[in-house]
Amino acid sequence: MRSLFRAVARGRPHSTEHELLEALDAPVCAVCACTHRASTHYLNGVVREGVNDVALRREWRRRGGICGRHWRVFRQLESPPLPAAILTEDLLGSRLAGGVREAIDCPACEIERTAERRYLRALGGLEPEAVRSALASGRGFLCLRHVEGTAAGEVREAFEDRLRQILDELAEFRRRQDYRFADEPAGPERDSWLRAIRALGGEV
Ligand SMILES: [Zn+2]
Ligand SMILES: [Zn+2]
Repeated sequence: MRSLFRAVARGRPHSTEHELLEALDAPVCAVCACTHRASTHYLNGVVREGVNDVALRREWRRRGGICGRHWRVFRQLESPPLPAAILTEDLLGSRLAGGVREAIDCPACEIERTAERRYLRALGGLEPEAVRSALASGRGFLCLRHVEGTAAGEVREAFEDRLRQILDELAEFRRRQDYRFADEPAGPERDSWLRAIRALGGEV
């Protein structure tokens, strides 16, 4: 696994705390976004350099490759088809040769679990002031699962307040669907339904 984590570390220019605060700019769960970025960096590293790494290919064979969700990410990477051909030839060949696996032990999921723990720990160490200020200027939040994974305290309260704000915006969004208010210009509530889906479902 060491080579896997090296691939992730190379793509990580900022501190964990800084990354989280930056992620609060976009209308997504900051922890989901950062963990997804970690696994995408890993898969990018595999595509760029991993196919020539004998140990990594052995590791993928042993684990049965990656899960369906991460094959979808893999497929969407801007990469030439050759690395995909080399990796899948390995995996399909070993399965057909009798390498039976009961379940896939996805290395990209493992990268995400490790990253998720790191980001949740970092959240607990953030200054509440810095979080409030990032929430005030950005549109980010934490999904329910990640709010529940955050240690109790001022930082968690700030994220709980943000979810209540999304709930208020949903009511406002519904109010504006009424024809009597249809002429009012759309406000920040216009994508509240999308943020609510992400609050409920995480990385959606
Ligand atoms: Zn999340
Ligand atoms: Zn996976």
